[in-house]
Amino acid sequence: MNSKIPEDLLERAYQGKSTKEDGLLLLKVPPFELFRFADELRSLAAGNTVTYVVNRNINFTSRCVGTCGFCAFRTNAGKVLSIEEIMAKVREAKQENATEVCIQGGLLPEVGLDFYLGIVEAIKAEFPEIHIHSFSPMEVYHASRISEMPVKEALLRLKRSGLDTMPGTAAEILSDRVREIICPLKLKTGEWVEVVRQAHAAGIPTTATMMYGHIETLEERIEHMLIIREIQKETGGITEFVPLPFMPYNNPVGEKMIKEGRYATPGLEDLKTYAISRILLHGHVNNIQASWVKLGKKLAQFALNCGANDLGGTLMEESISRSAGAGHGEMITVEELEWMIYGAGRIPQERTTLYRRVRDLASGSQKTPGCGVSE
Ligand code: SF4
Repeated sequence: MNSKIPEDLLERAYQGKSTKEDGLLLLKVPPFELFRFADELRSLAAGNTVTYVVNRNINFTSRCVGTCGFCAFRTNAGKVLSIEEIMAKVREAKQENATEVCIQGGLLPEVGLDFYLGIVEAIKAEFPEIHIHSFSPMEVYHASRISEMPVKEALLRLKRSGLDTMPGTAAEILSDRVREIICPLKLKTGEWVEVVRQAHAAGIPTTATMMYGHIETLEERIEHMLIIREIQKETGGITEFVPLPFMPYNNPVGEKMIKEGRYATPGLEDLKTYAISRILLHGHVNNIQASWVKLGKKLAQFALNCGANDLGGTLMEESISRSAGAGHGEMITVEELEWMIYGAGRIPQERTTLYRRVRDLASGSQKTPGCGVSE
């Protein structure tokens, strides 16, 4: 069945031991052979269910002292939402049956950990049941520096205040060569890994993302996936892997690419990246999320046949990708997500951030088949 993929590579993949060389070789396999194998591993890891979460993104400010060359979101003088304004958005999210709020923002020069603790505490005081999935490793690192405390201490305080999980964003490509060019002031590869490891040690699971399709080599892309796998082998704290194609509009890195005649990644390359991530992470990270915001709805739906088993969130508002040229909308309804999933021949299932079935929350027992990472 997988005639173009060498037997020994298949064997390593089933055992969760794919190598960097395997990843590079898979890039050369005919795409539909690759997709079929990734789909088989998806079926083994996650069954026929495709999950999604009802959530709301809240970006509390676009003001940022960062200098990331790929960013179209940052402003010099954007408004900073007050706690009351954030709470108004959380209340709206609750009215729409959201189980999660995902709060992130720019890096404010004068704002330390107390600001972040204040947000978490206000939300938990009114809605103890809502899952707070917030603050990137960069935000935590930045806040801990401003507050002059170790990252470990900052994470423990956030956890005590009610932070449930963190988005594994700010990962971009985990290569210091790449980071030096596209985000020189951001945490280095080792620092990102360390914040994530410390979060897991503090009882805060994270997702893991990869923003690909700019200046990185294919080898660096594969190395990124293997770094994620190594963290997961050590901590088990990664709930999902989310490959995110770079949006080249309204930002310096993208403008330079476009001048050189290079644009956003072709859809085929996106699907291959999803498939290879499923194969390289097999046995370690069960959930591969296709981002409908970045891929568009139709390609995200197709990615469900190339290794992905999750479509992410309903979001309610989205401004980061939109500012970089994504034109796929800021929200999606549950009905449309389920329509997309049925259309791909699969079974929709609303999940929590930690991949538990929403309707089983009351009993607290059953999990989505094949999921169950980092409960
Ligand atoms: S990516 Fe984040 S840290 Fe970097 S400039 Fe944009 S808002 Fe700031």
